[in-house]
Amino acid sequence: MALDTNWVSAWLTAGAAAIGEHKQELNTLDREIGDGDHGENMDRGLRASVDALGKLPADATPNAALRSVAMTLISTVGGASGPLYGTAFLKAAEPVGDRTEIDGATLVALLTAARDGIVSRGKAEPGDKTMVDAWTPAVDAAAAAEASGASPAEILSAAADAAEQGAIATEPLVARKGRASYLGERSAGHRDPGSQSTALLLRAAAEAAG
Ligand code: ADP
Ligand code: MG
Repeated sequence: MALDTNWVSAWLTAGAAAIGEHKQELNTLDREIGDGDHGENMDRGLRASVDALGKLPADATPNAALRSVAMTLISTVGGASGPLYGTAFLKAAEPVGDRTEIDGATLVALLTAARDGIVSRGKAEPGDKTMVDAWTPAVDAAAAAEASGASPAEILSAAADAAEQGAIATEPLVARKGRASYLGERSAGHRDPGSQSTALLLRAAAEAAG
């Protein structure tokens, strides 16, 4: 599929399905090192995003669709992750401009802007055991794939693979940001829930493009 407004809708629809399917798993991860609501938060936000996308005019641009998702996530997810994912989608829309179709280079710019938005909002660095630990390898893998001539679907698949590995790699880390940081050393040995939801959302983006 070309990366157009229909792709944004297909992405969020697949993302809502994946988050819904893994809701309890995300809650459990968050119960271990947080307050147990990450699955609920994300499930509510993704469902609302799909509803909001369904109400956009038929000629809405990908930029408008991404901004609609951003606003919906900010207003419905709550917690730490709502503003972070909301900022990610808001910033992701910027490099898209008024394009009706997103090419490989723009896709890398979109993912980079999303990650940079999360970092500027939450001030987490790689290794702090947050969603940044899934986004950063994803952006690096996307850029490498694009540089080697990969298609947008292949770029997204490389990003999703790297995000999954990044999420696994949060397990031994000690949290330095967010609620999990209150646990100090006891946060080690658990996967960060936000890195796991990031991996699910990037996999959904790849599936929607394939
Ligand atoms: P809350 O912690 O308010 O209950 P959620 O449970 O929905 O919110 O989200 C928790 C996730 O948010 C964490 O797993 C982590 O990935 C992410 N997170 C928390 N703080 C930050 C931060 N400062 N920067 C990046 N990600 C963060
Ligand atoms: Mg929580």
